[in-house]
Amino acid sequence: MSTASRLLRDDLRDFAGYSSARSGKPVGDIWLNANESAWRNSADVEGACRRYPEPQQPALRVALAELYGIVVEQLLVGRGSDEGIDLLLRAFCAPGKGRIVITPPVFGMYAFCARLQAASVTEVPLIDGETGFALDADAVVDAALANDASLVFLCNPGNPTGNTIPTQIIAAIARRLAGRCLLVVDEAYGEFSGDASAITLLPAHDNLVALRTLSKAHGMAAVRIGSVIASAELIAMLRRVQAPYPLPQPCVELALAALAEHALIQTRARIATARDERSHLFAALCGLPIVRRVYPSAGNFVLVRFIDAQAVFARLLAAGIVVRDMRAMPQLGDALRISIGTPEQNAVVIATIAACVKEAV
Ligand SMILES: *Cc1c(COP(=O)(O)O)cnc(C)c1O
Repeated sequence: MSTASRLLRDDLRDFAGYSSARSGKPVGDIWLNANESAWRNSADVEGACRRYPEPQQPALRVALAELYGIVVEQLLVGRGSDEGIDLLLRAFCAPGKGRIVITPPVFGMYAFCARLQAASVTEVPLIDGETGFALDADAVVDAALANDASLVFLCNPGNPTGNTIPTQIIAAIARRLAGRCLLVVDEAYGEFSGDASAITLLPAHDNLVALRTLSKAHGMAAVRIGSVIASAELIAMLRRVQAPYPLPQPCVELALAALAEHALIQTRARIATARDERSHLFAALCGLPIVRRVYPSAGNFVLVRFIDAQAVFARLLAAGIVVRDMRAMPQLGDALRISIGTPEQNAVVIATIAACVKEAV
């Protein structure tokens, strides 16, 4: 029995999901089964929006499966990877009874979705060490097993910490949790790191789940397209839990355009630029006396500790530059997270922060 079928909520085992007007292939030319209008709206010039969309657009699934190097059955497309996180909680945590493990400081959606599902959250903090934040892999495994958790969420590269988790460590955790717990690896920033994706480990680990998105490297945050990648069996379970028509047709079309070869070539070039700029920003900030620490980052952002984070935050705001204040997060009481902008924007950020040095004297 697979890990996913062992962990699926008992009360959902015989739940077939919603049967929509687009389930199964409609035969015939006159479709009068979904109470759609017989006429297109004048705002809908191409007439692409009159009918309910396919729940999982085949062309988009094919393009994403090709992008991520898997077969379509291993992929679920949703309203951002945020929806993927939500579906995992719903499918594998019975309301009020589920348990998950997270590794703060980390992306807030895992705890947010857990709260809505009344799941309990065990925190295994990242350890702030010589080389940056690092995962305590043994503690994660122990916490998952001791609490009988059904989901462990890892963020790789980490947001906001920028750290990576070596692929062998992810494989080792997955192995130790086999049959007991699903290991979800959120790779929202995977394109910006040089490391292999957890997707490469799927053939050997039935309890592994990867999350990918078009929101960051592909520049399509407003389109809200993310993917859950796992065994075909787990994906089929999530499909039953997903809302009937999760993908708006205009978004599907924009996503397909973003996955065309000429767009992908540009995306790859921009990823390379962001990585260069990340090194540049890292080096420039490291040299400033008002900076306590800049963390090495594998994402499109850097996490920076300041002697006076408030002064720097305010100075940046006064210059019209908005960065993310991380000070409310555990272990990050003096930190700001700065996304990588264009080379011109990064130059302004560096100059503005450098100007704080004079004020601090
Ligand atoms: C931005 C981000 C996401 C993105 O989610 P979408 O819903 O796909 O936009 C997921 N995980 C992490 C860690 C993020 O930082």
